[in-house]
Amino acid sequence: MAERFDVVFLGTGSPLPSADRCGAGHVVVAGDTSVLVDCGWGAARKILISGVLPSDINTAVFTHMHSDHITDFPDFLFLRWTSGATQPLRVFGPEGTQEMVDGFLMALRRDIGFRLAHHAGKLHPDGIKVEVTEVPVTARAEKFLDAGGMSIESFEVNHFPVVPAFGYRMRFDGRSVVMSGDTIFCESLLHASQGADMLVCEALNVPMLEMRRNALRIMGRELQASLFGDVPSYHIPTDEVARLAKSAGVGKLVLSHLIPPIPNDGPEVQAFTQGMAELYGGPIHVARDTERIAVEKRATA
Ligand SMILES: [Zn+2]
Ligand SMILES: [Zn+2]
Repeated sequence: MAERFDVVFLGTGSPLPSADRCGAGHVVVAGDTSVLVDCGWGAARKILISGVLPSDINTAVFTHMHSDHITDFPDFLFLRWTSGATQPLRVFGPEGTQEMVDGFLMALRRDIGFRLAHHAGKLHPDGIKVEVTEVPVTARAEKFLDAGGMSIESFEVNHFPVVPAFGYRMRFDGRSVVMSGDTIFCESLLHASQGADMLVCEALNVPMLEMRRNALRIMGRELQASLFGDVPSYHIPTDEVARLAKSAGVGKLVLSHLIPPIPNDGPEVQAFTQGMAELYGGPIHVARDTERIAVEKRATA
């Protein structure tokens, strides 16, 4: 029987507030190993209700230093610690990851002392520690870690001016999943996705964003409308996601990091992927928070 290889979606939204979709966060579960991929707003609080014990996560990787991918990390550290972690968390990410971790730990310094004193010996002092490794930038996917038999590779994507920004490819038990991170269409993502069993890709629905932008203009919120106008320059539109999935021959396409964030149910879910099925013939799924999707071997033609 195939070993468990799942992606758990903690947050499928973006920086934009949403009742249904938190900031970016995932847990990739491979056999007995669980790896956190990003931890944006609200994502940490979704871990337990998604069926993952925070203390089972001993490795975290970050795609880039945008707030919607990192700001729940301090909460994750405490949830992991207080659910029984006894060893430091290993963290990997692009340049800037060490600074991000140091900043959060500095902010938490007093609280860590308070909790160690209050719980007198019950919390392991190493369980709140973090060991950071910044991963070099490579255009092609390169392995930087083996975690419990899962090989993890990073590659640079194009989220300019956010430099560097990474996507990740995980291989386990003869299967592979690619996590796009935040990016426009780029050769490195296309290359890394070649033959992947599953591609988890960010997606921008341009007409939906434009509708919201117009609504902001009508309300006189010119600054927000103008900021919305900057969004498409560093995210990938749904039609390009579908073309990329087709070119790369991926087995299954899962959309996460939806811009704009749509409700979990209702007509907008179908509308979000409008036109994609004509460009990519494989299964297209819009992920929702707390969902768990198995990485299954793609059907070969
Ligand atoms: Zn983002
Ligand atoms: Zn971003």
